Amino acid sequence: MTDRSVPRAVRLSRPMAREVVKEVAKRYGVCIRPVALQRLDTHTGRTEIVDVPCGATLESACPPCAKRNRQLRMAQCREGWHLDHEPAITPNEPDEEQRWLVEFRADVHAQQEAAERAGQDTTDLDALAEGLDEEITEAGMRGHVLGGATGRRVRSTRRRQDAPDLPRRKMTATTLGRTFASPDGRVYRPSLFVTLTLPSYGKVRDGVPLDPDTYDYRRAARDALHFSRLVDRFVQNLRRVAGYDVQYFATVEPQQRLAPHLHMAIRGTLPRAELKQIIAATYHQVWWPPTDTVRFEGEHLPLWQDGTGYLDPDTGEVLPTWDQALDELDDDAQPLHVVNFGEQHNIQSVLAGTRAAGKWLGYLTKYLTKSLADPLDAATGHQARREHAARLVEALRFEPCSPTCANWLRYGIQPKGAKPGMQLGRCRGKAHKPEHLGYAGRRVLVSRKWSNKTLAEHKQDRRTWVLEALGQPDEPIDPHRYVWKPVPAGDANVPPLAVRLLRSVAERQRWRAHMNRLIQNLPATPQAA
Ligand SMILES: [Zn+2]
Ligand SMILES: [Zn+2]
Repeated sequence: MTDRSVPRAVRLSRPMAREVVKEVAKRYGVCIRPVALQRLDTHTGRTEIVDVPCGATLESACPPCAKRNRQLRMAQCREGWHLDHEPAITPNEPDEEQRWLVEFRADVHAQQEAAERAGQDTTDLDALAEGLDEEITEAGMRGHVLGGATGRRVRSTRRRQDAPDLPRRKMTATTLGRTFASPDGRVYRPSLFVTLTLPSYGKVRDGVPLDPDTYDYRRAARDALHFSRLVDRFVQNLRRVAGYDVQYFATVEPQQRLAPHLHMAIRGTLPRAELKQIIAATYHQVWWPPTDTVRFEGEHLPLWQDGTGYLDPDTGEVLPTWDQALDELDDDAQPLHVVNFGEQHNIQSVLAGTRAAGKWLGYLTKYLTKSLADPLDAATGHQARREHAARLVEALRFEPCSPTCANWLRYGIQPKGAKPGMQLGRCRGKAHKPEHLGYAGRRVLVSRKWSNKTLAEHKQDRRTWVLEALGQPDEPIDPHRYVWKPVPAGDANVPPLAVRLLRSVAERQRWRAHMNRLIQNLPATPQAA
């Protein structure tokens, strides 16, 4: 209620209570956008509403969650880089977190379908589902939740990606790199830190093209769209040449010029010359139908007919489907696009436990809390940079981002899984959005045998550490104890956000006070962790 005894000017100068609570929550590392979920305890039969931190995806997490995620990523990167024993890989029983993720995902799927049937906008639900899929993969489950039963098309061998001409070692069944012994008998285990970039599209200064009219925006857009496939090829080639199951932890980050580039920590080492050879020889071919001829644009658009699909409004001719268009690629066909790395790269040899290792680790995870378009923020007010970004977004607008992209209609092809209401130039794919600038892939790429732990397991490590410090046993969690359900929006049982945040802050305060007391009572010569 407004206190009328206080002059209006004074009232207005007071920060909003909710904002203050948020600031306090941030200081305590408490999630400021918690997701309320209903939890049924099958042991007691009690149902309660529990707040789960929003920190699901790195891209949408609130600042405290993003910070916590980054710390987890650093722990994960550190543990795998110089591993000196083979990780044992055993598929884990889905734990509680994984279970609720899957249930939550299933529920979102049902909502997506309902919204679609009702002809409603599903953008938010799609984004949510995508984030959940990423997190489920993160939590250590392989494959797609809803089953990968999308009949993968097998192309003729002719168009398989050719393997570049590179030396090949015989494969050995190890994920560890070589060690080197010095004359004094010490054993060294060097690892690598590699930075890879895309080619030049024209001269730039301070991230802005000197001549925007000759800057190759189309190539920049296509390279960004297919960058993650190029990285996949690089890893394949790396493993072939190295002759062992090379493990890596990599992050994709924006350059000043707004092109994605890659930082990669690699376990083990290769001769620099060989690595340079691999970088130069790696490429990815995009075998998609040609987009040379624009068939529809402006007011002249294909028509949807139920049971038939999209057709030419003038002739009534049904447009070729995605599969038909692929079949039309004949022996003389050229790939729509070929991506390769640029000349700029950086290769560093890193020894376990050195200061340099720590420095590169910080570098790897530095930008994880930012979106790809973030370098723009640093230069707000710089008109040329905003124009540069706008040109790139425009170049991406009509570029097909995937086989299901609505933009295929522009070139007279029905997108894969065509449905009514598709609008060319309006594809909802992440890659077209200004904050993604063509790169819709994951920001952190971790090979399966890196630290032999999922992010969820790293989380569990921390929990165990804290509980041990508190002198409490870390009880094994019964994976079937809780059943989780989303709480419908506007549920009266969910208290206002400020109340929930304050509760979490109070909890955190109690916990911190307890930790402080413990630390003060430690013996004078504490053991190094
Ligand atoms: Zn959060
Ligand atoms: Zn698209």
